[in-house]
Amino acid sequence: MTRPLTARIDLAALAHNLGVARAAAPRSRILAVIKANGYGHGLLRVARGLRGADGFAVLSVDEAAQLRGAGYSHPIVLLEGFFHLDELAEIARLRLRPVIHRADQAEILARAHLEHRLDILLKIDTGMHRLGLPPARVAAVLASLRTSPNVGGITLMSHFACADEPSIGVADQLAVFQSCLLCPSGGEGAYPVSLANSAALLRYPESHGDWVRPGIMLYGASPFAEQTGADLGLLPVMTLESRLIAVRRIRKGEAVGYGAHFVAERDMNVGVVACGYADGYPRHAGTGTPILVEGRLTRTLGRVSMDMLGVDLEPVPHAHVGSPVTLWGAGLPVEHVAVQAGTIAYELLTALAPRVRVEEI
Ligand SMILES: *Cc1c(COP(=O)(O)O)cnc(C)c1O
Repeated sequence: MTRPLTARIDLAALAHNLGVARAAAPRSRILAVIKANGYGHGLLRVARGLRGADGFAVLSVDEAAQLRGAGYSHPIVLLEGFFHLDELAEIARLRLRPVIHRADQAEILARAHLEHRLDILLKIDTGMHRLGLPPARVAAVLASLRTSPNVGGITLMSHFACADEPSIGVADQLAVFQSCLLCPSGGEGAYPVSLANSAALLRYPESHGDWVRPGIMLYGASPFAEQTGADLGLLPVMTLESRLIAVRRIRKGEAVGYGAHFVAERDMNVGVVACGYADGYPRHAGTGTPILVEGRLTRTLGRVSMDMLGVDLEPVPHAHVGSPVTLWGAGLPVEHVAVQAGTIAYELLTALAPRVRVEEI
């Protein structure tokens, strides 16, 4: 028998979650964010599940080329734009839409000799202070882009730092963005607008604009700390499943795993699951992390090893070698595992290791 660890990817759940995004932002087009190997689910696999989206967003020309090679003619946005002048010919050939986030990128684009005009997104830093032009530079850069022979359509975009934090929200950044639209070469309504990630899409309709950019919600996980994907009507796309490969009885006072971190307070049954940190399961998830054995909720025990982890079989007395285990996904929100590891669902999903077998359902 092969090692039983499998990530099951539910393509119908992707389509369902895209429908939830559409219902929440009915007047916007949807740019499905499938960077980071489709948030760990597989780039071309998720593109298939999300082919009903109006466009795709990725990071690299290489990812975009894979999508074009698989026959997708959707608009494809490069979220970090181009990294070097050399990439522009390929970006034009593949009809990709780069984000322009620095003034010097606009200058490089203006000097290039391209086979046709590129549609671009001009990114404005409205307060996150990561990528984007400072608002004061927007008017000048827009004016030069508008007269460039290499530039076709221009969409104005920004990104929110705190759309998932109810106490901060998006109001201040939205106000900065709107002030940029009033600049001399802006003109309210003159350009399509793209602002909202999953959190803003779900919580702030006033931020929707022409293109929304959902990522995490499409995979069935919540962008909010206080709610799971299920609370939002989303379906988990990835279910990480394995089996017990050993069952043993330990006595009160005996320990489980490296560092003897878990010590039994009474005699108990312990299971060993084929899944460890080299599979992408977080090592920082300590004793007590939720896990399902035979569909029953129980907890992990001790430190996560490279290839294995321990589970408490007290709630599942009939469990045996071969009993099915769910590490996250259907029946166990990945968000609940993430919280135990001091991280977020995004990190767990994108960290799924290449060695894990993937099956589509
Ligand atoms: C990753 C990303 C998104 C998607 O964010 P989620 O929180 O996953 O919805 C949207 N916009 C930009 C610019 C991004 O980098």
